[in-house]
Amino acid sequence: MNPSIEKLVKYIELECQRGFDNKAVMGGLDRMLDPWRSDAEASRLDPTLIEAVMSRVRDYSGLSPTSREEALQGLWARLAREEGDLGAFPISSEGEAPVETAPEPSDDVKEDDLAEASDPSPQETKPPSKKKTRSPGSPASIPGIEEQDGAPAAMGAPLTTIAGIGPKSAKTLSKLGLQTLGDLLWHLPRRYDDYSQLKTINRLWYGEEVTIIANVDKIRVRPVRGGKMKLVEAVVTDGTGSLRVTWFNQPWIATKLKPGQAVVLSSRVDQYLGHLTMSSPEWELLEREQLHTNRIVPVYPLTAGITSKWMRKVMHSVVLRLAPRLPDPMPGSVLNTTGLMSLNDALIQVHFPEDQATLGRAQKRLAFDEMFMLQYGVLRQKQSWERLESRAMPVPDDWLSQFTERLPFELTQAQVRALNDIRSDMTENHPMNRLLEGDVGSGKTAIAAAAIGMAVANGSQSAMMAPTSILAEQHFQTLGAMLPTAADVHSDAIQLITGATPESEKEAIRQGLKDGSIKVIIGTHALLEDPIEFADLGLAIIDEQHRFGVEQRGTLRGKGEAPNLLVMTATPIPRSLALTIYGDLELSVIDEMPPGRIPVETRVLAPLERSRAYNFIIGQLESGRQAFVIYPLVEESEKIEAKAATEEYGILQEKVFFNFKVGLLHGKLPQEQKDSVMESFRQGEFDVLVSTSVVEVGVDVPNASVVLIEGANRFGLSQLHQFRGRVGRSQHASYCLLIPDSESEQDNERLKAMEATNDGFELAELDLAQRGPGDFFGTRQSGMQQLRTAKLTDVKLIELARKEAKSIFQDDPELAHPEHQNLSEAVERFWSGGKGDIS
Ligand code: ADP
Ligand code: MG
Repeated sequence: MNPSIEKLVKYIELECQRGFDNKAVMGGLDRMLDPWRSDAEASRLDPTLIEAVMSRVRDYSGLSPTSREEALQGLWARLAREEGDLGAFPISSEGEAPVETAPEPSDDVKEDDLAEASDPSPQETKPPSKKKTRSPGSPASIPGIEEQDGAPAAMGAPLTTIAGIGPKSAKTLSKLGLQTLGDLLWHLPRRYDDYSQLKTINRLWYGEEVTIIANVDKIRVRPVRGGKMKLVEAVVTDGTGSLRVTWFNQPWIATKLKPGQAVVLSSRVDQYLGHLTMSSPEWELLEREQLHTNRIVPVYPLTAGITSKWMRKVMHSVVLRLAPRLPDPMPGSVLNTTGLMSLNDALIQVHFPEDQATLGRAQKRLAFDEMFMLQYGVLRQKQSWERLESRAMPVPDDWLSQFTERLPFELTQAQVRALNDIRSDMTENHPMNRLLEGDVGSGKTAIAAAAIGMAVANGSQSAMMAPTSILAEQHFQTLGAMLPTAADVHSDAIQLITGATPESEKEAIRQGLKDGSIKVIIGTHALLEDPIEFADLGLAIIDEQHRFGVEQRGTLRGKGEAPNLLVMTATPIPRSLALTIYGDLELSVIDEMPPGRIPVETRVLAPLERSRAYNFIIGQLESGRQAFVIYPLVEESEKIEAKAATEEYGILQEKVFFNFKVGLLHGKLPQEQKDSVMESFRQGEFDVLVSTSVVEVGVDVPNASVVLIEGANRFGLSQLHQFRGRVGRSQHASYCLLIPDSESEQDNERLKAMEATNDGFELAELDLAQRGPGDFFGTRQSGMQQLRTAKLTDVKLIELARKEAKSIFQDDPELAHPEHQNLSEAVERFWSGGKGDIS
């Protein structure tokens, strides 16, 4: 046996005997990693095996004993496969699964508990006796808020209007973007904890979320950790049993809770030394209104210096005071036909729900409003475009048949349909507004070429914008070959502009566009940034539209007078979404692949099978193919990410693909360098391209036959499908290998869908159902960031809102009727964030 494996086996056996307490090696098992690695390398152990050991053991200290056992068991199996039979995995000395030791008290400290101990905010609340009070129960008399006249005024009032909030707390709250009482009212809970199930102590179960009412029996403060920290320990009883309760580092609790007092406690039931306990529960003396306990409790987004308890108290007074006064934007007719809850009730219930069912109805109402506003804006946008006049750009049948005959391939039926849609749009004397959706490789470029050909045939100019210079370059080459043959566009009349174009050439391009001698310009953002003027821009095309902001699309269109607009996307958008977000655009879908494509074979591998994946890739490289290795963006910071990618790159080059050339691409590289790395890869100067996911690899590298995606569980299915689309672009059989960095069943189940289908739409639907719309739209999609309650997966609600919005729009498009005044204001408010252009 290889000596370094022998050593490893000893460590594992020892750890097992000790019940996985991480003491087989002094200072923890991971301490042995570095020396072991040098040994192992010296003894010429397979580098992929070394990596497997490193990655298994690296995080060992942080694991629970059970996970440690699993980790070592996995490692054991791996070693056994490599080295022959090692015998059965050793059993821990007790002969049973190790008992999970209770966590240190410090593990239980929540951010808010710490804050409660150190922040005086809760004490800022003035005693209620100082308040002017009206009849109890009337919303206007909620203690905690100074009097204000009328709701609209109160909505805009600063936070300090509330008695409990001083300048210091107001400043802290402003970190959450909260400036006014209205902001607070719309500061919706992040989630809810359901404490509405009261239980007796003898019926508690480990792990459940409960509320109990009990009497304090004993309470004391005890120094822990050498006196640095304080632990409040109480014993409470309720006649059916007693329970130990602890709070960490909140000694003041012992001054508030006295033996004999009745208290309501809510939390998860924990376990300590075999007994049930509660650690740092929410608590409240029994006689007070039970705001925090014994009900469904809202959990708000917090920031340092604010406790959840304090926040709830503030919210309670604000909500009860303001929500009932808020004017309802929805006309009575809408509320009648839909049977939705009033806005006033919905706001109260969404903050402090009576029960789950009412909470559901309240959320539905708020979601409806958002969807309504969104779709109203979409309808208005669509109408304003339909009102625009533009030059019709018809082409005769002959032209079209000649164009298609001269293409190097026969168009698919789906391409023909899209082409006909576009032709009929361009024949109208209103500008085209069309979204062309088609999976990666479905052949959108040829359709774009046809549209350009039509514009040129009518003497007009076209601009096509792509998100990266590599893509722009690729389009320039494709169209530069296609347009002269198929549409008689002179090749000099087709130009490319990117950030890298020299100033002298740019000047010539500007001139040519202005005098109309250049008919087709393809470019990146440079198209927008450059002071380009067109003689007659008749068609604007945007590729990979989701990569552009709303303003950028507007700017491009603004370079002409109501030009035809064609936006293209490879992100399949499910119908419900397309209806909602792109309701202002007509939709053409290319739902068919050109013939002869071999589907990419996809496999989900366990992290332990990584070396198998590497071996497979090496096999592909040996037969002359190339490979992508993609790493997820794990850290927020691109800088850290770049560092991680650089390290992985080093390891792969030196230890795994040492016979091949590996290239590296990450977000921190300057654009020119990214382009040149990508270009060299395409030219075959590298065999393997290691890339972080932040980098757009949307370029044709037909010789690449395999893509390995690390941390695959961190991506949405649609995104994985995009990565997968990087291969399978030639006659070579292609492969996609997915390695999750989690062992979660659920994650891995999700990934299995990638094995099952190559259909981007199917994956998009799954994605939407599982992860929400995050993968489809960045925050740049205007209107979208306003959706706080609405879920784009809720097709029924979307359709309901769309129906109502349509009916009001038809009736009163300007919302000029007096009964629509509140609605009109609400629509403006909703859209005032964006620019109103949502394509
Ligand atoms: P995408 O929709 O991803 O932009 P492209 O337009 O780049 O796809 O097309 C992908 C590849 O398929 C290109 O090499 C193109 O020449 C080819 N292609 C497009 N349409 C057809 C077709 N109808 N038959 C065969 N090949 C086609
Ligand atoms: Mg494309």
